[in-house]
Amino acid sequence: MTQETGGFAALGLHANILSALTAVGYEEPSPIQYQAIPVILSGQDMIGQAQTGTGKTAAFALPILSKIDPAKREPQALILAPTRELALQVATAFETYSKQMPGLNVVAVYGGAPMGPQLKAIRQGAQVIVATPGRLVDHLRRDEKVLSTIQYLVLDEADEMLKLGFMDDLEVIFEAMPKSRQSVLFSATLPHSIRAIAEKHLRDPQHIKIAAKTQTVSRIEQAHLMIHADQKTNAVLRLLEVEEFDALIAFVRTKQATLDLAAALEAKGYKAAALNGDIAQNQRERVIESLKDGRLDIVVATDVAARGIDVPRITHVFNVDMPYDPESYVHRIGRTGRAGRDGRALLLVTPRERRMLQVIERVTGQKVGEVKLPNGQQVLDARIKKLTNGLAPLVGDAEVSHGELLDRLTADIGCSPRALAAALLKKVTNGQPLDLASVEREQPLVPGAGGAPRERRERDGERSSERSDPRERRAPMPLGEGRARCRTALGARDGIAAKNLLGAILNEGGLAREAIGRIQIRESFSLVELPEDGLDGLLSKLKDTRVAGKPLKLRRYRED
Ligand code: AMP
Repeated sequence: MTQETGGFAALGLHANILSALTAVGYEEPSPIQYQAIPVILSGQDMIGQAQTGTGKTAAFALPILSKIDPAKREPQALILAPTRELALQVATAFETYSKQMPGLNVVAVYGGAPMGPQLKAIRQGAQVIVATPGRLVDHLRRDEKVLSTIQYLVLDEADEMLKLGFMDDLEVIFEAMPKSRQSVLFSATLPHSIRAIAEKHLRDPQHIKIAAKTQTVSRIEQAHLMIHADQKTNAVLRLLEVEEFDALIAFVRTKQATLDLAAALEAKGYKAAALNGDIAQNQRERVIESLKDGRLDIVVATDVAARGIDVPRITHVFNVDMPYDPESYVHRIGRTGRAGRDGRALLLVTPRERRMLQVIERVTGQKVGEVKLPNGQQVLDARIKKLTNGLAPLVGDAEVSHGELLDRLTADIGCSPRALAAALLKKVTNGQPLDLASVEREQPLVPGAGGAPRERRERDGERSSERSDPRERRAPMPLGEGRARCRTALGARDGIAAKNLLGAILNEGGLAREAIGRIQIRESFSLVELPEDGLDGLLSKLKDTRVAGKPLKLRRYRED
């Protein structure tokens, strides 16, 4: 275990959970986790006031998993969530955190999917049920004993559940569980109706809230960009083209993300480095020195590693991953605007994190306006502007100093001054594309970027005709000829990037680069196109392959 998971270790979590956290790369608990984990471990009922983005899922999942007995094959924990999307997200989080707990099973129970397999998983002894209330009540109607062994209950986003009209369903569910259970309620707001539920169904709950002190941020121009999680790297690359920055610090949540983003930036020619808790202190200091003196322009850091950075050159802060709370946001963006200079802070917001953005605006008392992802034309204009700015000062006396040389070269080569100037431009731009079509080809974005909300609030059962992958509804791209699509349960949330999958399959599968088709990384899984020919042999070769420390388990993916 690295010293950075020490923050989690001190909270009293089970060793298996701690090693899963090391694998996902969390460095320290978020404020809500610091407060909620000891309370839930102690067995006390709790009300937590927190919204998405604060790390609330782990705040209840980690202590509950620590207390569950995987040897007992019966439902022990019930998590209720308002929507199918949230239920699936929470179920995936439980799966991630229980990777080192053999025998632990999680079942997601939601409308729009057949009831049979869900009931079977419950009867086979899944210890964790993550459910939407409507569908769970349908199960209770068939078998009233389904919840009779529940010891831990979590109501997640309780205010949303009530808004969607689940009040009556909740009452039925409460009645079906043992009274001796521990109950935890999470809600962003605590209207009267929620307090009434707490009064009736929780026993002497401890109330936890992350104090949001008003913070002032001055001289920093703030903006946000709506984007899906899997398009963040591309978005950062585009933003960097149009933002005029001197030095920049980009904040992400995990160690792996610091490495991935820094590598993507370096590959594009930026002087970038990662800064995370695994990097030795003296090396961290060297990185900061390099940022100060211009040997580096971009540092990609976790909050832990960025503590105390004071570099006046920093003109920009990119919050690539959302901070856990407004205080941390203010702290992060305070890295720019140093020494009385102006700074600019950009926040990437995924559709589910809108609410956190509102909280930040409320606490700072400032509107964080929206910017759109720069389009190809804007990227091109920015490139040409940089080139113009670089060349304009040279034009002044160049004709005097280099005019004769120009005459000689055009004569020797036998070309026009225009042709020679064009050749020199090609050289100074290192072949970088400077026409619209090439820029767009170079920086493709999956259609739909820019944050149309993928999540829709809906009542159970309305989506029975849903055909796409239940975990993520975006349909996979059409398959190339002679290729088969394969799936792994590793995705962006496991810190996986396309290059990790590519490297592993190339090395261990002994394939040529061209044999591997499109790789699509989604939040909780990834798809890879492989040659249909010889696929079974290849999959068995890759049977024990691990990527980022986790089993790859690549399987043929059927689309229906
Ligand atoms: P939530 O507020 O539960 O929706 O969590 C928001 C995101 O934060 C999820 O992607 C989690 O994987 C991530 N996360 C939660 N806790 C931590 C932590 N202590 N360190 C790093 N990332 C975390």
